[in-house]
Amino acid sequence: MLIQEVDVQNHEDFDGHEKVMCCRDEKSGLLAYIAIHNRNLGPALGGCRMWPYETEADAITDVLRLSRGMTYKSAVANLPLGGGKAVIVGDPKTMKNEQLLRQMGKFVGSLQGAYITAEDSGTSVADLETISRETQFVAGVRSKQHSDGTETSGDPSPSTAYGVFVGINASVQHRFGTTGLRDVKVAVQGVGNVGRNLVKMLVEAGAVVYVSDNFTPALDAVQNESQVTVVDNRDIHTLDVEVFSPCALGGALNMDALVAMRAPIVAGAANNQLANAGSGEYLYHKGIVYAPDYVINSGGIIDIFYERKSCEQKGFAHNEMMNHIKGIGDTLTNIYMMSNKHQVGTHLMADKIAESRFLDRAIGEVA
Ligand code: NAD
Repeated sequence: MLIQEVDVQNHEDFDGHEKVMCCRDEKSGLLAYIAIHNRNLGPALGGCRMWPYETEADAITDVLRLSRGMTYKSAVANLPLGGGKAVIVGDPKTMKNEQLLRQMGKFVGSLQGAYITAEDSGTSVADLETISRETQFVAGVRSKQHSDGTETSGDPSPSTAYGVFVGINASVQHRFGTTGLRDVKVAVQGVGNVGRNLVKMLVEAGAVVYVSDNFTPALDAVQNESQVTVVDNRDIHTLDVEVFSPCALGGALNMDALVAMRAPIVAGAANNQLANAGSGEYLYHKGIVYAPDYVINSGGIIDIFYERKSCEQKGFAHNEMMNHIKGIGDTLTNIYMMSNKHQVGTHLMADKIAESRFLDRAIGEVA
C-alpha cells in the first residue's frame, strides 16, 4: 500500500486545501484520495464516495470541491468540524469488496484523526462498518438510542429530511408571512431516502404534495405511505406551486429549468443544486427565495456529529440534536434577511457567513 501527498497547489479547484493524499494498493485494487480542506473549526469530517471516475484528474477535482463544500456546510451549521472528503475510484457495483474497504480504513487511519469518514454515494452503512474495523475515525455507523427508547440506524436521511422540512417552513414564513404548511403546495423532485421522509412530514403538516422520480419503485413506495399526486418528472419544476423542492441529484437548477419554474421558493435536499453561478444570480434577481442547498440539507451532518459525539460521551443526545436541526430554520431566516441587507444572493450570503466563521473574517471583508 503506497500513500503519497498530491501536489494540488496549481489545480484550478485548489482553495487553500491543507492537503490531499493518494493511496494505491495493487492487491485490493484500491485507488483513493482524501482531501482535507480546512480544520480551523475542528477535525475534517466528510463522506467517502465511491464512483467510476473516468480519469484520476476527475477524482481529484471532485475531492477538492467536495471537501471545500464540507467546510462551508459545517461552519454554517455551527458545528465544531472542518471539511474533508474521500473518494474511491471504481464502480461500487462491481469493484467493492471487503479487502478494498479495509485498505480504505487503513488509509483513513493513517491520517490519525485529521479526517473522519462517513457514508456517501456508492458507500453504505455496512461498508462503513467494514472500514471501521481498521480505524476508529468513522462516523454514522452506530445505531442511536433515542429518548423515547426507540433505536435507529446510522442512516442520517431522516434527519436531513427533518432539516429540509424545518427549512421549508422558515422559507414559507419569510416569503408569505404565514406560519405552518396547511394547503401550501410543494413539488418534490426525487423521493429516495430523503425525499420520501420529507413527503411524509409535509403531508402530515397539511401540505398539498406533488412528487416525481425517474425510478418507479420509489414512486410506489411514497404512494403507499402518503397521499400525494405523482407527476411526470419532466414537468415537476414547472408546476404552479409555492415550493419547488429538489431532492434528487445535483444540477437541477439549470437555466432551462429556472426559466420554466413558477415556484417563488426553492428549498430541497439535493447537493449542488445550482448548475452554475449564473443560476444563483438568476434566482436572486427574479426574487425567488432560494434556501442554499448546503444550509437546508445540513441535518445529515448534524446527525452524524451527534452520533459521533455519543461514542465519546456515552449516550445519544437526541433532544439536543433535534434542537440543533431545528436551528436550520433560524439560520435560513438570518440568511434571507442578510441577503436583503447586503444585496447579494442567498448562495453568496451563506458562503460569507461560513467564511466569517472558519476564516474569522468580518462579513463585509469577504470578497
Ligand atoms: P437517494 O439516492 O436515496 O434518492 C434520490 C432519488 O432521486 C432516487 O429515488 C432516484 O431515483 C431519484 N432521481 C435520480 N435522478 C433523478 C432525476 N433526474 N429526476 C427525478 N428523480 C431522480 O438519495 P438521498 O439520500 O435521498 O439524497 C437525495 C439528495 O440529497 C442527493 O442530492 C444527496 O446528495 C442529498 N443529500 C442527502 C443527504 C442524506 O442524508 N441522505 C444529506 C445531504 C444531502
